Amino acid sequence: MKTILVTGGAGYIGSHTVVALQDGGYQVVILDNLCNSKLVVLNSIQKICSKTPVFYQGDIRDRTLLSKIFNNHSISGVIHFAGLKAVGESQSQPLKYYDNNVAGSITLLEEILKAKVDTFVFSSSATVYGEPGASQYQEDMPTAPINVYGRTKLMVEEILGDSAKANPGLKVACLRYFNPVGAHSSGLIGENPVGTPNNLMPYIGQIALGILPRLKVFGSDYPTPDGTGLRDYIHVDDLAIGHVLALDYLERNPGAITVNLGTGKPYSVLEMIATFEKVSGKKIPYDLVERRSGDLAEYYANSGLAKAVLGWQAKHGIERMCEDTWRFYSQLGAQGS
Ligand code: NAD
Ligand code: UDP
Repeated sequence: MKTILVTGGAGYIGSHTVVALQDGGYQVVILDNLCNSKLVVLNSIQKICSKTPVFYQGDIRDRTLLSKIFNNHSISGVIHFAGLKAVGESQSQPLKYYDNNVAGSITLLEEILKAKVDTFVFSSSATVYGEPGASQYQEDMPTAPINVYGRTKLMVEEILGDSAKANPGLKVACLRYFNPVGAHSSGLIGENPVGTPNNLMPYIGQIALGILPRLKVFGSDYPTPDGTGLRDYIHVDDLAIGHVLALDYLERNPGAITVNLGTGKPYSVLEMIATFEKVSGKKIPYDLVERRSGDLAEYYANSGLAKAVLGWQAKHGIERMCEDTWRFYSQLGAQGS
């Protein structure tokens, strides 16, 4: 049985990927410093899979710990989720982001090469494209991220590409996620950010629970059918499967690939609200307000490459994304959290 090191495996996307890996017959070792997640997620993973991953609480910048993990376990590949992701904070504290996301990835990569692990899957983001002038993003379009967070993602992609060229044994997949939403169908794991959410779906979830009163819909004068922003929302379980397929692909193919993971079909903010209301039976009161600075009217993935090279295609539509989000939040509400 192959063992995969999952950095950031206690976080939102990481925890769903750990479930997909364990369901797919992999052993998992998690390294997470818990700066944006909680240990309780391990109990939830155990309940879902009847199997608990090995867990190390620690930092990807801790070389000694990394070398201990590679000595203790026969790791065949690494999926690297550990990173900071708040765009606003990345602008106000750039060094914190360059240190954690870029320097952290370099330390991890150095230790991986020392340990002769040859497979690396990296969490990148559609944010690396910046504003390419078209709404459908394709992997070979120019990249020009407009914030520090996006630049950290692009830098790591480039570092990995250069390292794969210099180390012919190293195989790398950079996965550019669009808008991950939803939760595991058990309702046991999902996205529950600390403090007031910045993102749409956790905000809607907290309104449904009565924690927040009303949603601000940022912009209603975009050149889109209903005037609100269009995004390519992707169910987190579909995203998780994409990582397992990326590992399969790398087993068969040398070199480095960069692949979009999105459904290819965008939905507006008002469509997401209406669908959530329909599946939850909860009213989501909202106000149409000014556009949020830095937001684009519309973007979505060209997901052809993911289908062609990984054999990946999103299975879940927005009803399922909203149902699973609501199941997760209603269970949180029942626990009083
Ligand atoms: P998350 O914050 O829920 O998970 C990240 C995990 O990494 C957390 O558990 C955190 O404690 C851990 N972590 C952070 N820095 C660490 C460090 N230095 N050492 C060890 N652990 C550390 O975020 P997520 O939404 O699951 O995102 C996972 C990855 O996917 C991130 O790299 C993020 O940038 C990327 N991504 C996320 C989205 C999104 O919308 N959620 C979109 C595109 C890309
Ligand atoms: N959005 C909104 N109100 C909010 C949060 C988000 O109207 O409180 C909109 C945002 O303008 C964008 C969409 O919802 O059109 C998705 O935003 P999110 O922050 O979830 O992801 P982003 O696309 O910015 O990465």
